[in-house]
Amino acid sequence: MQSRRPFSADDLDRPIRTVLPQLSRGAAALAKLGVTTPRDALWYLPFRYDDFSDLRPIAQLVPDEKQSARVRVDAVRVEPGFGRRPQRVIAQLSDESGSAEAVWFGRRFVERRLDTGDEIVVSGKVTHRGWRPQFTSPEFSPVGRESIHTGRVVPVYHLAAGVTQRRLRELLARVLEVALPVVVDPLEAGERAELPDLADALQTAHFPEEAGDVTAALDRLAFDELLALQLTLAQARAARDDLRAPALAIDETERREIVTALPFALTDDQEAAVEAVAADLAGERPMRRLLQGDVGSGKTAVAAVALASAVRAGWQAALMAPTEILARQHHAGLLPLLEGLGVRAEFLSGSLSPARKREIHDAIAGGAAEIIIGTHAVISEAVTFPRLALAIVDEQHRFGVGQRAALQAKGTAGEPHLLALTATPIPRTLALTVYGDLSISTIRQLPPGRTPVRTEIRDRGAMPRIEAFLASEAAEGRQAFVVVPLVAESDALQVASAEAEFERLGAALPGVRIGLVHGQQKADRRDATMTAFAAGQLDVLVATTVIEVGIDVPNASVIVIEDAERFGLAQLHQLRGRVGRGAHRSFCILVSDAPDELARRRLEVVRGSTDGFAIAEADLELRGAGNLLGTRQSGLPPLRVASLFEPRHLRLAERARELADGLVADDPRLGDRAELARLQTDFAATETEGDAA
Ligand code: ADP
Ligand code: MG
Repeated sequence: MQSRRPFSADDLDRPIRTVLPQLSRGAAALAKLGVTTPRDALWYLPFRYDDFSDLRPIAQLVPDEKQSARVRVDAVRVEPGFGRRPQRVIAQLSDESGSAEAVWFGRRFVERRLDTGDEIVVSGKVTHRGWRPQFTSPEFSPVGRESIHTGRVVPVYHLAAGVTQRRLRELLARVLEVALPVVVDPLEAGERAELPDLADALQTAHFPEEAGDVTAALDRLAFDELLALQLTLAQARAARDDLRAPALAIDETERREIVTALPFALTDDQEAAVEAVAADLAGERPMRRLLQGDVGSGKTAVAAVALASAVRAGWQAALMAPTEILARQHHAGLLPLLEGLGVRAEFLSGSLSPARKREIHDAIAGGAAEIIIGTHAVISEAVTFPRLALAIVDEQHRFGVGQRAALQAKGTAGEPHLLALTATPIPRTLALTVYGDLSISTIRQLPPGRTPVRTEIRDRGAMPRIEAFLASEAAEGRQAFVVVPLVAESDALQVASAEAEFERLGAALPGVRIGLVHGQQKADRRDATMTAFAAGQLDVLVATTVIEVGIDVPNASVIVIEDAERFGLAQLHQLRGRVGRGAHRSFCILVSDAPDELARRRLEVVRGSTDGFAIAEADLELRGAGNLLGTRQSGLPPLRVASLFEPRHLRLAERARELADGLVADDPRLGDRAELARLQTDFAATETEGDAA
């Protein structure tokens, strides 16, 4: 046998295929999960654990719990499949205390691994059939051979096609065995205080000795992730101290003139936000302000005043929105105001003809175009602003950090001021922790004259009546959204269900004009449908969550959300904000068949409140620890390990912030802390993945 050089720390970041050739087939399986290096494998953490450490005699097995038993195999038989019933493998088991049965469905290979007379440990959930305990599809392994699958706390991972839980566990165990000894802890002992050493934490996170050990291990990993984030924020703060922005001082009279040109009087909250922005703009340090306000609270008006102010002060300003339709809506909506003020505002998106694009690029470069409203096209390389002083990002959580940075980088005459708009309320402490030193303005009150949307919870059985309601609203000239169920982790499935619902409604509602939008359509096709809907050429729009971003159709009076329990509360609230924007009485119908107690309570929160902040807080409370579902929609950075809904992790985040401040103050580049810098790149990579979605 060829002797291999020992595994080194550098090998952690080389392909598994190369540095662990003995796992070459396993490497292909791991690659399906996006795991290509040993380091990836270390951080491919379980999403939950099965605690099979409860080892009992058969007679003492209790129903409906996960347990293990050490048993003898008395007989194994295969029952052929029959009609819709799958083939089953059944084993008769016994120990001194009694006998039991184990059943596997359609898993013929189980039979090959089991023989009469074998002594095994079985682990799984037990049900009782008559007097006899039955394990359903349990894990098992021979007695005496130490197992990572049975008789202990067992990790459960997200899988991909063709990779079983068992196989993955074995592969990860083998990688860990070789890789963990060379892992260098990026933290010094004093820095990590009571948290475990990194290698120990990783070992325990995958294969805990005891269920009780998991928390400390995951806390440690969460801390590393939070530290990576805080280091990046601290560096940004440090860099910002050296930046100078154009000071955009415009006098009070001039600002009044702009505000008066708006077609309505500002609410007090809008007014306060306008003042805060004006004060920031007048300063030499670049503004970094987050404007948060519920859907429909009128953030655009605040943005408009800022845009016009920048131009009045002699500079250019840009507004970037995440979708073409939204960008067009902003442009069309702001044009009368801006033109009235004598300001030239151009629209820019990738869908314009090349000739038109060139025209706009020239107008921007020559300074004739004073305000640019558009999509990502605004940050394309071809665009150069001679005098960009203000960058506004709408629905900011839809953009990656990189995209925001690219917009800021367009400032050639100093660092532009940045205003980020978001409809996702973020509790203040959380925002400070995850966004560093953003200042925050909040619009809490809705503009006057809105009738609150009436929200109802219905089960699926009510669909025919709901459809009849859609038809009658359409007959009255109103419009409706139908949002199809969120399918976790699979766009393709959600698209399929959107298409099916579109067909079904088409058949159920003859004469009603129905459109369909989903994320896998070409952007121009989707935009065309949205535009037709906005123009009143469609009555019902069947949609996936792509409509979540702020499209404004005041004539829409109904939104039906199917399988509502699958959505985050903030998301339901945002979706509901699509209606009730005009003078008509509006309805939000949450359709849900599932609701268990918790789901029911969550939906009741949305029904009972129209205050986005109250809803966000309730959601935080109800979801409790560890449940990150919906983070992506929440506007928070996508975190792999840490949970910002977990108070313990919030405290860790604060600690990480202090540590990061100190480290960056010593050396902004972290020159002699290479492992810390590497932590940043590792976690930054996840963030861009999340952003891309
Ligand atoms: P969002 O905060 O969701 O972006 P918008 O800025 O799109 O909200 O505003 C929603 C609607 O409310 C728009 O039609 C806008 O014209 C209107 N609006 C905004 N502010 C006021 C106000 N102070 N009074 C009356 N209507 C307003
Ligand atoms: Mg908006």
